[in-house]
Amino acid sequence: MEFPMFCTGISFLILLIVFSLPSEFIQSPMDFGPLSLLHATNTASLDFGRIYFNSPSAVLRPQSPKEISVLLSFVSGSSYNKVTVAARGAGHSIHGQAQALNGIVVEMDSLPSSIKIHRKVDGESSHSFADVSGGTLWIDLLKETLKVGLAPRSWTDYLYLTIGGTLSNAGISGQTFKYGPQISNVLQLDVVTGTGEIVTCSPTESSELFYGVLGGLGQFGIITNARILLQDAPRKVKWVRAIYDDFDTFSKDQELLITMANIVDYVEGFVVLNEDALHSSSNAFPANLASIPKLQSGPSKIYYCIEFAVYDLPNKDTNNLDLVVEEITSKLRFMEPLTYSVEVSYFDFLNRVFMEESSLRELGLWDVSHPWLNMFVPKSGIAQFRALLLENISPSTFEGPILIYPMLRDKWNSNMSAVLPEFDADENIMYVVSMLQSANPNSCSQECLQGFLRRNNLITKIATDPMSKIGAKQYLAHYTEEKQWREHFGGKWQQFLARKSAFDPLNILSPGQRIFKRKY
Ligand code: FAD
Repeated sequence: MEFPMFCTGISFLILLIVFSLPSEFIQSPMDFGPLSLLHATNTASLDFGRIYFNSPSAVLRPQSPKEISVLLSFVSGSSYNKVTVAARGAGHSIHGQAQALNGIVVEMDSLPSSIKIHRKVDGESSHSFADVSGGTLWIDLLKETLKVGLAPRSWTDYLYLTIGGTLSNAGISGQTFKYGPQISNVLQLDVVTGTGEIVTCSPTESSELFYGVLGGLGQFGIITNARILLQDAPRKVKWVRAIYDDFDTFSKDQELLITMANIVDYVEGFVVLNEDALHSSSNAFPANLASIPKLQSGPSKIYYCIEFAVYDLPNKDTNNLDLVVEEITSKLRFMEPLTYSVEVSYFDFLNRVFMEESSLRELGLWDVSHPWLNMFVPKSGIAQFRALLLENISPSTFEGPILIYPMLRDKWNSNMSAVLPEFDADENIMYVVSMLQSANPNSCSQECLQGFLRRNNLITKIATDPMSKIGAKQYLAHYTEEKQWREHFGGKWQQFLARKSAFDPLNILSPGQRIFKRKY
């Protein structure tokens, strides 16, 4: 059945309808008022995880925030009492978080991309910032800001993600120890709530919505615009890797590096399970274990690699990056002489995962299933968590990187929705551990994929069980029952519920997170 186009006199509301929604959704064409929707596309039911493929009934490709507002006002009306709505950014979720089974997916890339840069002028107390639309990719924000010598301060490793998508989670990378996650680098948001209200919010204006939306898993509103803090862009970056054969020394050195925030700009690290692990993430460094003579003697042994970087920032006294790197490495206890460094442009440094993407695409290994697991682990539980991880994977066959790096709790605002482990009062360090496994279809069947997912569930269950004393929380969490979410949010659950009933009382938004059931 096709619906006619409706003429409302408001031209921006006229979209094409080429698809009929289920009968319980629309009782008659007129019921759907002024909005017209597009046929559900394959893209709307697809994400990077390639594990869930929930098809919506229809897709909205908005040309303005107002259209999103009209949609949400409309579906929160009584006639559409089963409809859910999910914003879809770049669809780089793993477990269908941006999908809406039988609902409506709002494809944020259709909003006209708008990036307005404000450079701080002399004497101004505030920072430079960019106003950017919610569906814009971080890579595009980077390209635009670099044109005027500025850039955001806090990043994700991969830049083909949207502003709204990462701000709904946290947005972390090797800069997080210094500047906090991306959600700590936002000054203001424009949000369309679950009832269709368009609200500008900040720490001082509608602050409950502002803090709720940041890390809020898309539950309280759709971010249509964000004001992102900028700093002067570094001219170049010295990027260093150092190899370790002992986890304790590796993690102590990482913790030392994050105390040197005056000279160190980025700290990450990864487990070297096999030769492929050194190959991944960059071809700027020696590619395999065979090129590192000292490692050849113990091929079955597990190694660790610290990655840190020093930026050549205009306002920093780092004229000679080599000297700064020397000063830093002299304090580290890596396996002499196993340290490597390269000098790259800031853009190439930030866009480093794109190199990895290109080579995986060539091998047909990018568009495959990704049973990823990300955990935040307090420092007190990291040794035990590492042991748990290694007990549950097979080092010789594991495909994909395992990242481990520290961050500081006091760079996170506890009023935001993002969930962190519960810390001892004197503890400030937590680690992120990311098992970024690919399920290579040539060697991994559906059964094998299900096995990886079961293993991830087991690791999560043990690491989050109070009895284990690891005290971890999932990042980019995936749970399917309210009880599990309640435990995940812990002391923040009541606040999360209160915000949900204030801003999306009918539970319309982001059904793919599987936290709340649509009310009617
Ligand atoms: P989507 O997958 O499209 O959406 C994610 C959630 O946010 C959904 O619930 C959706 O409904 C909601 N949402 C989307 N847009 C909006 C909006 N405008 N307003 C409100 N809600 C919205 N994360 C890190 O922190 N650090 C990393 O280094 C990192 N690297 C990654 C590398 C790769 C290759 C991939 C695939 C993911 C990586 N991630 C990383 C995870 C990533 O940050 C999240 O999956 C993020 O949600 C992806 O953004 P997206 O635009 O694809 O969001």
